[in-house]
Amino acid sequence: MKTGKYDIKEMRAILKSMSGMYDIARVVDPVECRVLELGDDGSIRMEESCYGIWGSEQKCANCSSAKACHTGCHQEKCELYNNKFYFIHSNPVKLKLPDGGISDAVVEFVSIKSAPDGKEYNDRALENAGNDLSQYRAKYDRLTGILKADFFYEQAREMLTDNKYDSWKMIIGDIIDFRFFNSLFGEEKGNSILIKIADIFKEIANNGSGVCSRLYRDKFALLLPSEHYSDDLLAEAAKVINDEYSTSVYTVRFHFGIYDIKNRDIPISLMCERANMALRKIKKSFRTNIAYFDDTMMQRSIDEQKIISGFDEALAEGRIQMYLQPLIGDDGKPFGAEALARWICKDGSIMAPDVFIKTLEDAGMIHRLDMYIWEQAAKKLNTWKGTEKERLTISVNMSAKDFYSIDIYKVLTDLMKEYDIKNEKLRLEITESTLIDNPESIYPIISQLQEAGFVLEIDDFGKGQSSLSFLKDINADILKLDMYFLQETQNEERSRIILKSVIEMAKALGMQVISEGVETEQQLVYLTAMGCNHFQGYLFSKPITAEEFDIKYA
Ligand code: C2E
Ligand code: CA
Ligand code: CA
Repeated sequence: MKTGKYDIKEMRAILKSMSGMYDIARVVDPVECRVLELGDDGSIRMEESCYGIWGSEQKCANCSSAKACHTGCHQEKCELYNNKFYFIHSNPVKLKLPDGGISDAVVEFVSIKSAPDGKEYNDRALENAGNDLSQYRAKYDRLTGILKADFFYEQAREMLTDNKYDSWKMIIGDIIDFRFFNSLFGEEKGNSILIKIADIFKEIANNGSGVCSRLYRDKFALLLPSEHYSDDLLAEAAKVINDEYSTSVYTVRFHFGIYDIKNRDIPISLMCERANMALRKIKKSFRTNIAYFDDTMMQRSIDEQKIISGFDEALAEGRIQMYLQPLIGDDGKPFGAEALARWICKDGSIMAPDVFIKTLEDAGMIHRLDMYIWEQAAKKLNTWKGTEKERLTISVNMSAKDFYSIDIYKVLTDLMKEYDIKNEKLRLEITESTLIDNPESIYPIISQLQEAGFVLEIDDFGKGQSSLSFLKDINADILKLDMYFLQETQNEERSRIILKSVIEMAKALGMQVISEGVETEQQLVYLTAMGCNHFQGYLFSKPITAEEFDIKYA
């Protein structure tokens, strides 16, 4: 469901509509760990504890709803009590309270399933329990019986402090596209693979004087003395998982990131994060399933931290700025501009978006940048009203993450109302890869925006591994050809035929075509001959400040 603002009535309707699909649909306050009862008169009341449904008397150490609230993103977890699985989906929302206030809350959808046979799926934490049940419940993961994150951090710290070995490694392992595995084979099979991985990790840890944990979902951690470590050990583990769970149509890929612990004084969670960074590097690689954290990653992680911690200040001090690059029509004059973000550093140097966009996306902050730039664009359009430039449009970039973090439709329509601009003046650039990777979640929103009059541009067309078929489902107004099409190639004739066909196809589908990255007169002539007559590129102008734009195109 969408992370957005809901009043009590709307929320009651959502719960009602979802109650057929789940055993429980409810709203919880993840701070006090209580269920919120929503009255049909629009009132709210704090009810019993949310963990009461599985008969627990304690708060969960791994609450997915607290995590959902904290990250602003959907989270999920599985609890196992009395031979029943509780699959919990936590969706963060803002709840409009009867007194006009707005509160963070989480909508939980819970499916309850009986374990198929008591033996295999018994609460594995209990196997370790001895007499002190509640203590073990807090420490060990119910499903896999290995340590939960907090207690892993504690135990790992003790081991490092004991100083029995000179050198240690932090290893993180996960399955590529575990979500996909789950949806393909079902949650039970998903659980059984998690149990298998935990067993393998436990064996390696026990044989090698280490300790292991299931941190969350399919993310496992292992702290091991270097002298007990070898790449072969992990390769063997990956092979066991692969052999046991792959089918003729689907290959399970278990892979690892490794951090050689140089400084034992940094937090254990940071050691895990570094190993995880190494792991992310090989996510898309089919050639290797083990990667080490290295110095370039170290530098990147420092740079990323600087970006994350410096963003608020840069925004508040007006050092995030909207630059404009003209879009040129067949008359050689601008018909609009693209808004491109620039980060002005304290020393006056300018940081390009390629440096900070990805980091802000990963940190769940990109919507804040985008909303800021959209507002700057709306403001600019407003100042152009009644002038020569009234006919210009501004195209803004949108990140895939925006669709999950904010109610884009509301944000944009509110903005247009506030600055008294027609919706068609703001053009929305969405990259081809965003459209291909997230069709179900974003197509309805895009249609809604187009119905409201916003103009949709497909950005970076031809940059990724495009599948042309998405063009049949999305009724875009403009196709922006990536500068890839202008690269010099071995086979000019073939490139020319492809480019010409793409332009013809776009036009036949009723789309205007804009070529990006036009740098030379020669390219301009070439594109014009191919039938494209809208351009963007350094040949006309680099992106410039909004003030410079006003002067240059007065
Ligand atoms: P993009 O949307 O494809 O923007 C066009 C990029 O091509 C810009 O890079 C622009 O400066 C560059 N460019 C334009 N003409 C030429 C040319 O003739 N030759 C060459 N070599 N490059 C040219 P920039 O400004 O560095 O932005 C990079 C990317 O960062 C953008 O690519 C866009 O994906 C992203 N971005 C920029 N601003 C924002 C923003 O406010 N929000 C989001 N989500 N992404 C943004
Ligand atoms: Ca763009
Ligand atoms: Ca582009």
